Amino acid sequence: MSGLEWQFLQEAFESNWIAPLGPQVDAFEQEFAELVAAKHALALSSGTAAIHLALIHLGVEPGDEVIVSTLTFAASANPVVYLGAKPVFIDSERVSWNMDPDLLAETLARKAREGRLPKAVVLVHLYGQTADIDRIGEICLEYDVPLIEDAAEALGATYKGRSPGAFGAAGIFSFNGNKIITTSGGGMLVSDDADLIAHARKLSTQARDPAPHYEHSEIGYNYRMSNLLAAVGRGQIRVLAERVEQKRRIFEWYRQNLADLPGVTFMPEAPWGRATRWLTVILIEPEEFGATREDVRRALEAENIESRPLWKPMHLQPVFRDCEIVGGAVAEELFEKGLCLPSGTIMNEDHVTRVAEMVSDVGKRVLHECA
Ligand SMILES: *Cc1c(COP(=O)(O)O)cnc(C)c1O
Repeated sequence: MSGLEWQFLQEAFESNWIAPLGPQVDAFEQEFAELVAAKHALALSSGTAAIHLALIHLGVEPGDEVIVSTLTFAASANPVVYLGAKPVFIDSERVSWNMDPDLLAETLARKAREGRLPKAVVLVHLYGQTADIDRIGEICLEYDVPLIEDAAEALGATYKGRSPGAFGAAGIFSFNGNKIITTSGGGMLVSDDADLIAHARKLSTQARDPAPHYEHSEIGYNYRMSNLLAAVGRGQIRVLAERVEQKRRIFEWYRQNLADLPGVTFMPEAPWGRATRWLTVILIEPEEFGATREDVRRALEAENIESRPLWKPMHLQPVFRDCEIVGGAVAEELFEKGLCLPSGTIMNEDHVTRVAEMVSDVGKRVLHECA
């Protein structure tokens, strides 16, 4: 928290608007839409809810297919299954680690030949870095398949100078506790399509039809964000730019300390945009480094320092065992060798140096033991 949140929370208390909806929600939606340069925004209880509502609006039904990046958090794919549809997973490219446009083009061409195009593409912008949105957007356009951008991890990043989330039919963001800004829990659906947002807004409040009594002609959800959390969100968007700078600084400190180590490389920054470095992610080549990613993770854990492997690709997850995967080797390799280092914006240069020294020591120690 930055402290600014208090002011908006106080306004919320003084106005006695505590329930879902209220002036803080309206203001948060408007400010957020401006921030990402989308025409409309809808504040929700989570990013997952935002994906769910976007998929419903786009007409995803039981038996349909939806294309999803395989290297992601399960929340990108779960809403597809809520609707009885099937995710089709696509591998990453090596430039941004996001969905490989060539594989997407191949897949849509094949599905078109089979007369069975997917209902949507859920494109993930991973670890604070945008995918190749223009190419992927063109491919989707060619086959008339709507694009949903899962920008939950990429608020504050840019693609050719613009925010992700505002390119596709819909974009989603998350304010979960681990994201670059947070309302403790929450999400945002953005779109230039007023009908999409109006429909999602209706679905998010139990789908009430316009009538003086409670009338329902479709199934709704309770997905709205509370006015209190929107107040926190308004304080948070005011420090987003600062958070991005601090994340990039943390990355730079790690880079200075680790770049010269044999077998250690960093997540690349794709030429089309500016990454937030939401997390600093490294790849460890065990042969060259002298230790595996797991050796490093365990050594840090022994010092009570939390690091994590990358997202385990969705096509390797037991729940998605029966889903189609196109490619997969790149995501598998990234998962096997990749480690997310502590990247909280509370960290200063000393903290980062200390973690980096430990990482570097693991390589040296294991090499030594082998000799
Ligand atoms: C966090 C996250 C989500 C889901 O957001 P919630 O607000 O936690 O529901 C979706 N996709 C990705 C890639 C995420 O990292």
